[in-house]
Amino acid sequence: MSRIWENIVLGAGASGLMLCSLLKNRRDTLLLEKGREIGAKIAISGGGQCNLCNMNPKISDYRGEPQFIEAVIKRFDRRELLKWFENRALKTTLREGGKIFCSGSARDVVDIFAREIEGVTLKKSFEVKRAYREGRHFVVEGEKESFRSKNLIVALGGRSYPKLGGGDTGLQIAESFSHSIVSTAPALTGFTPQKEQFFFRELSGISTYVTLKVGERVFAGDLLFAHRGISGPVVLDASLWWERGEIEIDFLPSFSFDRVRSSKKLLSTVLPLPKRLSKVLIELAGVEDRNCYRLTRGEWKRLEVLGSYRFAPAGTFGYARAEVMRGGVDCAEIDPRTMMSRLEEGLFFIGEVLDVTGRVGGYNFQWAFSSAKVCADTLNGGDNRPTPT
Ligand SMILES: Cc1cc2nc3c(=O)[nH]c(=O)nc-3n(C[C@H](O)[C@H](O)[C@H](O)COP(=O)(O)OP(=O)(O)OC[C@H]3O[C@@H](n4cnc5c(N)ncnc54)[C@H](O)[C@@H]3O)c2cc1C
Repeated sequence: MSRIWENIVLGAGASGLMLCSLLKNRRDTLLLEKGREIGAKIAISGGGQCNLCNMNPKISDYRGEPQFIEAVIKRFDRRELLKWFENRALKTTLREGGKIFCSGSARDVVDIFAREIEGVTLKKSFEVKRAYREGRHFVVEGEKESFRSKNLIVALGGRSYPKLGGGDTGLQIAESFSHSIVSTAPALTGFTPQKEQFFFRELSGISTYVTLKVGERVFAGDLLFAHRGISGPVVLDASLWWERGEIEIDFLPSFSFDRVRSSKKLLSTVLPLPKRLSKVLIELAGVEDRNCYRLTRGEWKRLEVLGSYRFAPAGTFGYARAEVMRGGVDCAEIDPRTMMSRLEEGLFFIGEVLDVTGRVGGYNFQWAFSSAKVCADTLNGGDNRPTPT
């Protein structure tokens, strides 16, 4: 009879690697990864410097069930996470927005995990096809081989960036155990324009500070015009909350036209915007670029559109270019004290496969690592594990 592992962890990404690093019983743990390398997303994250976590995280910066998220994150918060990495000689740097990055390279994080998971049996280039229960054990099947375990931990991430391992095996496994899935969509990605906004393309490469409203939420930050539409941190954040329909952009936050109404300068030179963008937006407002003092009251009125430009994006850049998937396994069916399924004893879900998604700024790694810690505590025999019913 084939070996029965204590734990099989599916996916060597952020959450699976942190879990394996924290497990006491590594000799009896099998880690299965379809990629040829571990931590593919970590390695290229944060522009190659990995935005590990955030100095001032707020639960409202996550999309998901707030109480569930809080219960998990407080068990391994930013302070403990940083301490863990600092104890392993990782140097970090604080940047604007409270973002904490590696001072060196994101590869340093992957290297730490490679060392920390020593003892765990790692099987790379193994694509998990399905998993099911057979008697008291779980069976995990690949193309040619299958494995058995007492505990099964699904750390397979979401659909984003298929070329870095994204896929929906985690969701399929959850469904096969009768878990509900909260509808998924690409998030932390750009918006594609409708025909009326095709002029964005002419502005490709320009970046400008804006505020952007989606429903009741207002985000501030840089917007980048790209060939495919609009992107940049403020758009990525907005995409987490966007549900088809209009968004509103203020291209001139904290600027008042009153300051320049009597100026002798050309309108396009007094607006605090990149010149090319100024010209395009003035044209969009239906105003001729003249000396400010010559503009009529009607023209100033029309220019107000620059402070509240509304349009409905055609869509997003899709999973190929989305940093994360939003939605996922319904957290109502997971116990936040253990990360164990409420439907299947011994089955755990951690990381992005769950219906918890953070905005840009280190929130998603924090989630991956905190959920891994809660799961590790449980598997290490912590007293947070409920008595099986
Ligand atoms: C370009 C980019 C930059 C990012 N930058 C940041 C950042 O700076 N800060 C931040 O907080 N977040 C960032 N993120 C988001 C972050 O990477 C994810 O939220 C995080 O990696 C999720 O961790 P996870 O363990 O749940 O999933 P993943 O890290 O995606 O790991 C899942 C693993 O499962 C493997 N897998 C999938 N299917 C199978 C299968 N069938 N069989 C076997 N193995 C499988 C995958 O290959 C992968 O290794 C970024 C994402 C991207 C794409």
